[in-house]
Parts: sequence; structure tokens; C-alpha cells
Amino acid sequence: MKRILILGGGFGGITVATELARLLDDEHEITLVDRRERFHMGLRKLWHAVGMGSLAEGSRSRAALDRHGVRFLRRRIVSIDTANRRVATDEGSLEGDYLVVALGAESRPDLVAGLMEHAHNVWDAEGVPPLKAALDDLERGRIAIVIAGVPYPCPPAPYECAMLLDDHLRQGGRRDSVELSVATLQPMLLPNAGKAGSAWLAEQLAARGIAFRTGSKVERFEPGRAVFADGEMAADLMIAVPPHRVPAVVEESGLTGDGQWIPVDPETLETAHEKVFAIGDVTGIKLANGLPLPKAGIMAELEGQRVAAAIAADVRGETPPAGFDGQGFCFMETSKTTAALIQGEFFAEPEPRVVLAESSAENAERKRDFEAERLARWFGA
Ligand SMILES: Cc1cc2nc3c(=O)[nH]c(=O)nc-3n(C[C@H](O)[C@H](O)[C@H](O)COP(=O)(O)OP(=O)(O)OC[C@H]3O[C@@H](n4cnc5c(N)ncnc54)[C@H](O)[C@@H]3O)c2cc1C
Repeated sequence: MKRILILGGGFGGITVATELARLLDDEHEITLVDRRERFHMGLRKLWHAVGMGSLAEGSRSRAALDRHGVRFLRRRIVSIDTANRRVATDEGSLEGDYLVVALGAESRPDLVAGLMEHAHNVWDAEGVPPLKAALDDLERGRIAIVIAGVPYPCPPAPYECAMLLDDHLRQGGRRDSVELSVATLQPMLLPNAGKAGSAWLAEQLAARGIAFRTGSKVERFEPGRAVFADGEMAADLMIAVPPHRVPAVVEESGLTGDGQWIPVDPETLETAHEKVFAIGDVTGIKLANGLPLPKAGIMAELEGQRVAAAIAADVRGETPPAGFDGQGFCFMETSKTTAALIQGEFFAEPEPRVVLAESSAENAERKRDFEAERLARWFGA
């Protein structure tokens, strides 16, 4: 009997747990630990903010994973001992023959002066209802979306946010009296999609009258304005994408080494410690062009599938599966009813190959199915 201990029940952790349950006999013990009882996808945060359903509608109890034979423990992990594959939690310690670290990236609004006081943080679910209320109240004025740190989960999401807001304000007859703008510290809008993808996105924003600036690092948020190294942006409502870091417990475990993220073998997702894997947003995988692999649920999921297959093969004494190939996709919403499809071969050399399919209603439908299909598969009806 082997014990597989999975830390973090997001896209990555849930995939490893449910895939292992499918691949292994019942005698093995699969334990998933998360400090929160309920799961929802990041995309729900934007949908809730612009009235496309609620967070609650897309939220499920992780306890429902027992239908797969996965034991879910709602606990906070307080330390990780990688040498012994043992973790301490707020309710005792746990051990595994295999350890999978899938603890995600934590948003750190505290790292930018004034962000917590003057801007909305929708990268945390708690920030979503206050943003919705502020949006509902805004009859006229200026909305600024400011990317305050990189890398952050879901590179296209701030721009999706801008385009969903554009549609939302039009529907409400308020678009003529509300200005929309986006600012990023990166040299182009979407570096992972390259120059062509960034140029396409710039056209999309311009066509909707959404102003944007690149290469602008925000220094602080003040009442009614974001202050950059190279100027400022006045706004009545500010939405910030905060800097992100690994959870403190990961840093304290030494898993990040000298860097900010957990270094892993890009194909096997193995860490420097035996039978300890790391997947998803908590990892740092550098691409041929020097950029990091985008942090996205689909990446965490595909990495999780590979790790589950590798653990199952190891348990059975079989040869390891093919490595993770760095291919992924995402549907980028361009309005409430349309989305573009971005597909990437991120391990390609000398740089990732990214293909973009124009917006369509069909892709928006496929994005809704993306959520519905996983919720049903993981948690049941
Ligand atoms: C607005 C927005 C829109 C997005 N849209 C998309 C999209 O359309 N497609 C897509 O692919 N991705 C999207 N993403 C990105 C996606 O949500 C993340 O990349 C994904 O969740 C990463 O999965 P993960 O398993 O690595 O980590 P997470 O999903 O973040 O899971 C980590 C888990 O670890 C738990 N945890 C952390 N610390 C502890 C601790 N000390 N003790 C116990 N538990 C702990 C957390 O509670 C969490 O449940 C979006 C993100 C946002 C913010």
C-alpha cells in the first residue's frame, strides 16, 4: 500500500488526486489537503463581477471528491519536510510515500503601497463582491486596471476583465460615461503570446475604446490615482492585479532554493527531492525565450495528469510515461458572449509557438463547457 499526499486542492491537486484514483487500485491511499473546503475556478471571479452568474454557482465542496475514493482533509499546512515527505498541519502531521506540492501562487497586495486601501483585488475571491458593488454604483467616471506584478495567474485575464467590463457597461447604457484603461509593467501586453499576439490584443482594446499603456510599473496607489515611475493615471475605480509569490510555507520549506518559485524538471515535474513533485502556479519553468511558462489552470491540470501517470507507473514498477510537453490553451473572453482561443507550444525553440483563433460565440460556449465539464467530472452532478 502506498500513500500519496497532495498539498493543495486547486486545478493541479484535484487532477492528480482524481487521476490517481482512476489509475490505482483501491488499496492505495490518496489524500488531498487544502485549507479551504470549497473550490471554484478563477474565471468565476470575473463572471461574478460583471453579472455572468455568481461565485457560489461555480463553487463545489472538495469533500465530494470522496466519490473517487480521494480522502479530503480541510487543514492548513504549516510546514513541509521534503526529506521525509512529511507535513505539519494545524491538526497534526501527515506523511506520504509520494508528495505532490500544488499550493498555487498567493496574491500579495501588501507588496504595493496603497493597493489594499485604494484598489480592488479580484485575484482573491474576497475582493470580488466589493468590486461588483462598486461597479453597480458607478454611473460615470474612469476605471483603471493595473497589473502591479509579474508573473501572475492567467496572463490574459486583466484584458478579459477590461473587455468584459466594456460589454457590461454597454449593456447597462453607461459605456459613454465611463472611461476604461489598462496599464502593465511588461514591455508588451501579452509577452507569452509574442509580438503578433500582443498586437492583436492591442487592436481588440483599441476597437473598444479601451486605453492602454505598457512598461509602466506602478509604485503606489493613492485615493483616485495610480502613481507610476513614469507618470500617473487618475481613476475613480481601480482594479489591481497584485504581485504573486509562493505561499510562505513553501518558501520556508526551502523548496524554492535561491529563486522565487519551485524549480522543477519541466518534463517530469520532479523537484530536487526524491518522490517530491511540484505542479502548477507554485512552480517556475523557464522557456527558451527566457519567459516563464504561463501560470494557468490548464497548465496545472496537464502537469497534474503527467505526475499522476508517473506515480501510478512507479507504484506498479512500470516504465515512466512520456514527459509533459508544454502545450496548453486558453479561451480569452472578448465580450460576455465571445472568446478567442490561444493555443501554445511553450517548450518550442527558439521561442514558444502561439496560435490565436479569432473571437467567436462558439469559443465562449466552449469556455463555459470547460468549467461545467470539470465540475461534473470532479465533484458529480
Ligand atoms: C481572474 C482569473 C481568471 C482565470 N481564468 C483562467 C482560465 O480561464 N483558464 C485557466 O486555465 N486558468 C485561469 N486562471 C488561472 C488559474 O486559476 C490558476 O492558474 C490555477 O488555479 C492554478 O492552479 P494550481 O493548482 O497551481 O493552484 P491553485 O488553484 O491556486 O490551488 C492552490 C490551493 O492551495 C491551497 N493552499 C495554499 N496554501 C495552503 C496552505 N498553507 N495550507 C493548505 N492549503 C493551502 C489553496 O487554498 C488553493 O486551493 C484564472 C485566474 C484568475 C485569477
